[in-house]
Amino acid sequence: MVLDEVGSPLAERELPDPKPGEGEVVVEVAACGVCRTDLHVVDGELDEPALPLVPGHQIVGRVLDSGERFGEGDRVGIPWLGWTCGECRFCRSGRENLCDRAGFTGYTRPGGYAERCAADERFCFPLPEGHPDLQMAPLLCAGLIGYRTLRLAGDAERLGIYGFGAAGHIVCQVARHQGRRVFAFTRAGDERAQAFARELGAEWAGDSGTTPPEELDAALVFAPVGELVPSALRAVAKGGSVVCGGIHMSDIPRLPYELLWGERVLRSVANLTRRDGEEFLQLAPRIPVETRAQPFPLGQANEALDRLRSGDLSGAAVLLAGRG
Ligand SMILES: [Zn+2]
Ligand SMILES: [Zn+2]
Repeated sequence: MVLDEVGSPLAERELPDPKPGEGEVVVEVAACGVCRTDLHVVDGELDEPALPLVPGHQIVGRVLDSGERFGEGDRVGIPWLGWTCGECRFCRSGRENLCDRAGFTGYTRPGGYAERCAADERFCFPLPEGHPDLQMAPLLCAGLIGYRTLRLAGDAERLGIYGFGAAGHIVCQVARHQGRRVFAFTRAGDERAQAFARELGAEWAGDSGTTPPEELDAALVFAPVGELVPSALRAVAKGGSVVCGGIHMSDIPRLPYELLWGERVLRSVANLTRRDGEEFLQLAPRIPVETRAQPFPLGQANEALDRLRSGDLSGAAVLLAGRG
């Protein structure tokens, strides 16, 4: 499924098989999760897509021809971070997520809305057998970046989650496993999402404009809505953090300094490191994280994106390539 021009629907097209470059493997894609970042790419809110582009960066599949690290038939996951330079100040200080020259799957490199995909094997994750492709795919971005977002919130006990979609519902389970208390915020009146949050262990769920029953120690903002930032700052206690987990957000409205006062912290999360991925993919099956995923055939990628755009999904949308 190919994006020729931003703002236009993806086109179904027959492309030549990808040829592996140096250090790359070709993967037969079984499933690819649909991430909000894909919407930002398709809608033109991120400015460097390598057009024409195959989007998608939550890829579960099997290696077709062995490389150095993986053998034929190995089950692997391909995430958003597709390549880093290894040389810049960020790479050399354990912050490859901030690499100046990073390559991103399904954005600056071809992604997984396809039957086959080439990837640098150093950035692929080995995946255990036994979990269905459908449930595994959302772990590769919603899970990984959600986990990094949670980690940057420190040891906050009372945790607010703004936006209870793919990332929110995974992070809620990790947070509960860690013994934190979860307060979930959804679009106004989204009773389905609020019930879902309570089912996953949130002790309170309500509309994002409302005040939680007590102060929070941290808030994670997964919805791409700048207006939520002042609301979240208002909800956190002194010394608390508001961590924005998305790659794109609408403008944050002007806010009085008083909302930041009291050593409150406002920060973003950018991308992931391989360490985040390794940690999270080891932790997830031990909890175990159960993802709610809605399957779509690969050819219905546009419909899956539309459903995500309108909020008409419970959990995560996943494209199934349909050969496995
Ligand atoms: Zn670098
Ligand atoms: Zn993503």
